[in-house]
Amino acid sequence: MTVYNFSAGPGVLPATVLDQIQTEMKSFNGSQMSILEISHRSKQYEEMELEAEKDFRDLMNIDDSYAVLFLHGGGTLQFTNIALNLTDKYHHVAYVDSGHWAQKAMEAAQKIDGLQVDRIGSSDNNLPKISAPDDDPLDYLHITTNNTIEGTTYHQIPNSTQPLVADMSSNIMAQPYDVNQFDLIYAGAQKNIGPAGMAVVIVKRDRLTSHPELSEIMDYWLEDQKHSALNTPPVFCIYAAGLVFKWLKKFGGVPAIYQQNLEQAKLLYDYVDNSKLFNNSVAKDERSLTNLVFGTGNKQLDQQFIADAADKGLVNLAGHRLVGGMRASLYNAMPTAGVKALINQMKQFEMNHG
Ligand code: PMP
Repeated sequence: MTVYNFSAGPGVLPATVLDQIQTEMKSFNGSQMSILEISHRSKQYEEMELEAEKDFRDLMNIDDSYAVLFLHGGGTLQFTNIALNLTDKYHHVAYVDSGHWAQKAMEAAQKIDGLQVDRIGSSDNNLPKISAPDDDPLDYLHITTNNTIEGTTYHQIPNSTQPLVADMSSNIMAQPYDVNQFDLIYAGAQKNIGPAGMAVVIVKRDRLTSHPELSEIMDYWLEDQKHSALNTPPVFCIYAAGLVFKWLKKFGGVPAIYQQNLEQAKLLYDYVDNSKLFNNSVAKDERSLTNLVFGTGNKQLDQQFIADAADKGLVNLAGHRLVGGMRASLYNAMPTAGVKALINQMKQFEMNHG
């Protein structure tokens, strides 16, 4: 049975990347040593890291005025690191409250002594507007481009007079964004980048200053000086991410995968919009391409659908425990065949239960 993994994270990875990892596992690059064993001070590591960074820069159009960091600690540690590294000037930041993860990011900043943290809007209804008053300078205005649990996305980023920081954990490289609109972008790796255990940070170098009061691995300036290898870096994650970047470049880069993501999401949303059983209540222009939420409005029926789908190899379709219902995460590596199989299953279920 073919299994399609709709998990919100760790998410599906390209099959060819997994094959390559398997082939190379015992001997990385002809070294007779596993990638799990090689030294992060070796030439082999350095070349691998530089290539991964170069491919990522190509994919996201990132120039040298930005540092690219591969760091430990997932998205969550960056919630804190951002607030510690970028708030020297005004000690004042604002967070657009677009959902659960935006709130978690804001709560991390609120723990920092002497930092004024404003909350902008609320995720109760539609997505809040990305804007903060111009007359009160902020160190940054924080946004979450894709809300993994709520299934909403900011498809357009308005020009902002305040410096923007974006959590792109769940839609980085799924659709084009202009890096130059942001002072900092960060993402946990385990959705569109690679395995869990790493975050990628893209940050304007002119925002970085030394922070000797912090633990060294939390100091972005120092990590940039040390090419993310201040201590032993997440070597395997960087290696696997590098393979995903190569896969995506071969696919045609972000514009090409964006077209596929649009097509896949359209297939599913069109079906849901015409269904008498399933529904999605997100405003059409705010719907996520990566996390598509839907439900029947009946808890028991939702459970039944999730169990039946799993029996057919369509796994991890339960919505987040905070919201219930279903969620299909269509990250970059999800093949269109998986989306079609899901829609067929929904049709079947609707025939039996509609
Ligand atoms: N931000 C967003 C938008 C997320 O979806 C998640 C995890 N699902 C996180 C942050 C937290 O990431 P991590 O688990 O890597 O700390």
